[in-house]
This record gives sequence, C-alpha cells and structure tokens, in this order.
Amino acid sequence: MTPRCILITGAGSGIGAGIATELAAAGHHLVLTDLNRAAVDAVAAQIIAAGGSAEALVLDVTSDDSVAAAVAAVTRPVDVLVNNAGLQHVAPLEEFPIDKWDFLIQVMLVGVARLTRALLPGMRERGFGRIVNIGSIHSLVASPFKSAYVAAKHGLIGFSKVIALETANTDITINTICPTYVKTPLVDKQIADQARTRGIPESQVVSDVMLKPMPKGVFIGFDELAGITAFLISPPARNITGHTITVDGGWTVQ
Ligand code: NAD
Repeated sequence: MTPRCILITGAGSGIGAGIATELAAAGHHLVLTDLNRAAVDAVAAQIIAAGGSAEALVLDVTSDDSVAAAVAAVTRPVDVLVNNAGLQHVAPLEEFPIDKWDFLIQVMLVGVARLTRALLPGMRERGFGRIVNIGSIHSLVASPFKSAYVAAKHGLIGFSKVIALETANTDITINTICPTYVKTPLVDKQIADQARTRGIPESQVVSDVMLKPMPKGVFIGFDELAGITAFLISPPARNITGHTITVDGGWTVQ
C-alpha cells in the first residue's frame, strides 16, 4: 500500500470522520477539513493519539476564499480528495425555503466543483489523483420531501462523468460511492424531521422509511465506506472512473 495524502471535507462528523479514522489506521496521512474547527481538531487528535498522521483545517466548501486558504495551508500535496461535506433538509417543495434549497446545492454540488477545481492542477502536475465523492442512494432514486438533496446528489453523478472524461489523459480518477442510510448526526436529525413531516413516530421512520426499501434492512457502516474508498484509491482501480459504487443492500435491484 502506497501511503497517500487524503483530504476529506466534512471530516468533523459522521462519515467523513469515520472514513478518516479507518484510512489513517491503514497508514495514510489525513487532511481533515470542516466548517467546525473544534470537531476536526478532535478527530485529528484521536487519530494522532492512535499513532496515525493527520492535520486539521477549517474549510467551507461554499467559499472561494476558504478553499484557497485551506489549499495554501495544507502541508503536503493532496493525492486524494474525498468530497463528503453535506447536509439534509426535509420538506415538501411548496414549504421548502428557496434559500435553503440553494444552500444544499452550494454545499453538495457547487462546493464539490469548487474544491475539485482547486486541487486538480496539482494532481495533474504530479500525474496522480483520486477523487472519491460521497453520493447517496439519492444519487440514483428519489424520496419525497428531499428535492434539493436528490437534485444535488443526482447532479454529482453527472459532474463526475464529465470530470472523468476531462481527466482521462492522466492517472486521475473520480468515482462516487452511493450508500443507503448510515447512522450519523445527519440521519439522527432526519429521523426527527421525517417523523414531524410525515406525522409518524420516529421508530416508524427508521423501520418503514429508511430500512424497509432495502432488502438487507440495515444501516451501512463506516468500515464499508472506508474499505471501498481504499479500493478506489488502490492500483487495481486505476481504470475505474466516472462510475458509481452502490452500497444499497439490494434497494435498486428490485
Ligand atoms: P454529518 O452531519 O454527520 O456530517 C457532515 C459534515 O459536513 C459536518 O461535520 C458539517 O460540519 C460538514 N459541513 C456541512 N456544510 C459544510 C460546508 N459548507 N463546508 C464544509 N463542511 C461542511 O453527515 P454525514 O451523515 O456524515 O454525511 C456526510 C456525507 O454523506 C454527506 O454528503 C451526505 O449527503 C452523505 N450521505 C449520508 C448518508 C447517511 O445516511 N448519513 C447516506 C448517504 C450519503
């Protein structure tokens, strides 16, 4: 295994922190970035205490200045970018504040383009780069009340296909992992929001809304997402680009 420098957005919580911890344990250097300074500092401290290598930076993917400052501050060339930062808002379209709609697109679609655009020149210069996007089952299918999220996550797939073609002349790949539900703060908040929007108890949101469409009926683990990321950045995956890896326990084969 070649140790890589891996920059993850939204690494202060949930999936970003989970993937970072597993990849650091495998010997990679992690650049943990997030809006939340205290959160990424805490994840970096845990990784370093466990014998791993990490640095923490504040990075708001919606801000050109923040991206430029973070890219200038990174101590090593970035080999791997994991576009993970995200958020959810659940509401019927007629009640969905349009500024909130725009913000979800800014974070999960424009933010991905902004950071990828900032890191691609260095990857090209060094002749190596791996970009892994954290998409979603909602990159492939829809659910009611998630119009902005589903639009952003579907858009991510189109974006990745284009960048796969634009980087095909060098050893850079871009792929999107599409998981069903992972137990993180984002999902915990959604359980409460969906219970309110649908007028059902929280336990029913988990059983009937989240896990029922998935034949395997379980939450996805951080180890699965970290393992798939490790595969996508490994030599055998060098010609896999522009694709999705769907981790849905059979949801979309029905
Ligand atoms: P989370 O809420 O635990 O973590 C998201 C992190 O993103 C937070 O630390 C937050 O501070 C950060 N963030 C938000 N806006 C940001 C911005 N503008 N710039 C930088 N960082 C920002 O959520 P999570 O569940 O770990 O989600 C991570 C990613 O995984 C998201 O893209 C989400 O859509 C995707 N995803 C989650 C699930 C799930 O079930 N949890 C399923 C499929 C896909």
